[in-house]
Amino acid sequence: MNSSTFEAASRQACRSAKALCRLVAAQDLGPLPLYIVPQSRLPPELGGGSVANGYTASRLDLHLRDFIPDYRGRGPCMVVGDRNLWARDADDFLYSFQATSLHELAHLLLRPWYFCEPVNASPEALHREARKVADMVATEPPEDGLPPFMGHESQFIRTALHLQHRAAKVGVWIAPNDLCAGRQYGLSHARRYQLALGDEPQRLADKPIMRIVATEAPIEFTELWVSDVRAHLQSFSRMKGSAL
Ligand SMILES: [Zn+2]
Repeated sequence: MNSSTFEAASRQACRSAKALCRLVAAQDLGPLPLYIVPQSRLPPELGGGSVANGYTASRLDLHLRDFIPDYRGRGPCMVVGDRNLWARDADDFLYSFQATSLHELAHLLLRPWYFCEPVNASPEALHREARKVADMVATEPPEDGLPPFMGHESQFIRTALHLQHRAAKVGVWIAPNDLCAGRQYGLSHARRYQLALGDEPQRLADKPIMRIVATEAPIEFTELWVSDVRAHLQSFSRMKGSAL
């Protein structure tokens, strides 16, 4: 890896991902700061050794405060695995950095307690917690029998598809399946979810996304989700049956 090329690309990708996130979630973020921390800025014991494309965690802004030069109080925070993305495909680096940022942003919008709760923990307790998170992301998650879509359910998909639409509107095209749903989550292709959502992203493009996803989803969307979950449960019970 040419380190100066990588560093320049990472700085530029981080700036552009941050600007993109602010544009697509302007109303949801409001005046809150948004922190995107590239993995390469972190020591191994605080997330530098992550094997993930990106992650977020409760109180991550506090864990990584010393590595956020423009820290200005509590706000949504994500780590993007810039080294991992670069190693996977340097030519697609900007695209995958932006896609990862939007994916993590969808998580953050759905988990405001990650950055809103008042925290009374001591600096030592926060540091211990930060190291625990870093340990967790340093290895691939174990095959534990949980559904592959765990944490990326229908509300996540709907949020991600709204973000995808708003990003396309400002000239950044991210394939829906690179953000949510699809085979990697044991679900139908994201394009099918997008079709099932109909014109909702266009129609409600000027509304806060969190207000939209608090309302009932279009029936086709919900039916697709229910049928995916049912298919997962059926294949799971078949698997269990054949293992007996
Ligand atoms: Zn995720």
